Amino acid sequence: MDGYTPGEQPQGGGFIKLNTNENPYPPSPRVREAIGRCATDDVRLYPDPMANALRDAAAARYDVSRDHILAGNGSDDLLAIVLRACVDPGDRVAYPVPTYSLYDTLVAIAGAAAIRVPFGRDYALPAALAAAQARVTFVCNPNAPSGTFVPVDELAALSEQLPGLLVVDEAYVDFAGDSALRLARERPNVLVLRSLSKSFSLAGMRVGLAFGAPEVVAERCKVKDSYNLSRVSIAAGAAALADYDVMRQHVRRVAATRARLSDRLRDLGYKVAPSEANFVLARRPGSDQRGVYEALKQRRILVRYFATPELYDALRITVGTDDEIDALLEAMAEIASSVPPP
Ligand SMILES: *Cc1c(COP(=O)(O)O)cnc(C)c1O
Repeated sequence: MDGYTPGEQPQGGGFIKLNTNENPYPPSPRVREAIGRCATDDVRLYPDPMANALRDAAAARYDVSRDHILAGNGSDDLLAIVLRACVDPGDRVAYPVPTYSLYDTLVAIAGAAAIRVPFGRDYALPAALAAAQARVTFVCNPNAPSGTFVPVDELAALSEQLPGLLVVDEAYVDFAGDSALRLARERPNVLVLRSLSKSFSLAGMRVGLAFGAPEVVAERCKVKDSYNLSRVSIAAGAAALADYDVMRQHVRRVAATRARLSDRLRDLGYKVAPSEANFVLARRPGSDQRGVYEALKQRRILVRYFATPELYDALRITVGTDDEIDALLEAMAEIASSVPPP
């Protein structure tokens, strides 16, 4: 099998980093205080296997009881746990594409059968997704790398047509206008995954949350690593959730910059899908964007280029600070005037 290729993570700095959808703003100051309080000899003790301090903070924040929540070492851990619990070799796992490419890798590890169903026009939910009748169906919403959002009513209808679990990957949902969390409360076959990596600025801490029916959560729990979150991650995640207003402020700033970035990219001749995430997908149909990606990298600006037939003519650009986006746009205008169109 091919392994998953993570985005470039240059260690050492000096880059404007717009390639892996991190938040350009810092986490709540309470996170740093909480991490500081962990710096004791108590690190010789194992962490709470159920991460209850984190689950309680999430329960209070999202108005569900603790038993509806499973904590993960990032939501990537939760995706792996779901497949470990739900699929045997050969079982079908369906998802609309293009989407988060880790799903392909996790399905390959499980020896399951990936049913990759192309999105409809303008990234509409494809009808053939329900027809796959899969054991697990993933919908990334807002979707990566398109940034587009499928109405929650359509997800509700989909969940009723499926024989198995619908997993809604909401890694970017704080940047959107709605959420499927109510489905996780109401429907026994819906699991909603959240990440603190993007909106809460905690990518380096590795904290994810799954919301679902208590029996679904309890069964997934059987197959997780016992101590899947460290003491530090539990404390940092709980502190971040307790300071929700800081996250909302940063989301508002990102949304304003996202609107400006989208407009300017359209001025430069790109097609930009309407984004409800903290990134945009900018496409020049039929024109390979590798040259632009490389020219930006030479100027120490990193964006995401995908060397696939579905996405070679697009760049995925994280919404950074206004200064970072100004530098990007200036570089792109310069590159556009120096690279002749193919
Ligand atoms: C970033 C991302 C994740 C993983 O988030 P972590 O909590 O950092 O593991 C999951 N799904 C999608 C679509 C993402 O973009």
